[in-house]
Amino acid sequence: MLLSVVVPCFNEGNNVHSFYEYTTNILAGEDFQYELVFVNDGSSDDTLSCLKELSDRYEEVSYISFSRNFGKEAAMLAGLQYAEGDAVVLMDGDLQHPPELIPQMVHYYSKGYHQVIAKRNRKGDAVIKSSLSKLYYKMMNKFVDVSLVNGVGDFRLLSRKALNALLSLNEYNRFSKGLFSWIGFKEYTINYENVVREEGESKWTLSKLLNYGIDGGISFNNKPLRASIYMGMGVTVLGFIYVLTMLVKILFAGIDVPGYFTLISAILIIGGLQLTFLGIIGEYIGRIYYESKKRPHYIIEEETMTAKHENHQKWHTHA
Ligand code: UDP
Ligand code: MG
Repeated sequence: MLLSVVVPCFNEGNNVHSFYEYTTNILAGEDFQYELVFVNDGSSDDTLSCLKELSDRYEEVSYISFSRNFGKEAAMLAGLQYAEGDAVVLMDGDLQHPPELIPQMVHYYSKGYHQVIAKRNRKGDAVIKSSLSKLYYKMMNKFVDVSLVNGVGDFRLLSRKALNALLSLNEYNRFSKGLFSWIGFKEYTINYENVVREEGESKWTLSKLLNYGIDGGISFNNKPLRASIYMGMGVTVLGFIYVLTMLVKILFAGIDVPGYFTLISAILIIGGLQLTFLGIIGEYIGRIYYESKKRPHYIIEEETMTAKHENHQKWHTHA
């Protein structure tokens, strides 16, 4: 069998070589063939020249290089479309995903699992971050149709079947965590100890994480819109009850003028709710806007020219 390892890289110049050494050391001892597909996601450091060096020197290495930074989702998609293997492993280029797990993944793949997922614990993460993400996943699983699991990321093996299913979803707004779960298939989860990044820094800032969180909530269904209907109805009912009690009170006890506090609170709360749900509706419209443009997910500036190229072109024009 042929295993493709797909590695999105954004400013990983310091990691590419050690990634190659480390990973191939482990794969060389195995009884399957492998290829490494690196995707340079518009890095501003020497990632591209490192990748060129590797692919010149080693036959099993190929790369795709984007014209600018398109984000990890696009980079993963490009690599997956390019990969030729019977199975594909997705992993980060910063050595936070231990390659030691790959042989285990292949083992479960050969037992018939279509997705073999590596799940990390949150050791070494800041307490605030890990408790926030715990809360997030709790809420998400209430809101979203697909199930999302804390600690499960993109590090996983996909069989050719699962991969084709994944590639058949060609929406513009890709939220992979949800897509992996949406396609289904028999899956197996391996647990591993979290690894703290050694070289370079994480590309996740607080605002990026927040936006990613909102993406997750909105990408999968219209439950947030549904929630706004319920909340609107709830507020309306409360409003009616309030008006009725006030009316009765006025009829029996006459009008007492001071009402500033209730007035202002009503304006503030209802105003806030309205803005929030306007925002949610806007978010959906924005997505429709992006989907309807049907832009490609990424633009390739250069890539290794091999026989694979043809196969890739096929996907590329379909995307
Ligand atoms: N990455 C990418 N494009 C981006 C951001 C990140 O291809 O715009 C890659 C990055 O090079 C790494 C992986 O995605 O291989 C995970 O990124 P990072 O380590 O910053 O995320 P974290 O591990 O902190 O979740
Ligand atoms: Mg990382």
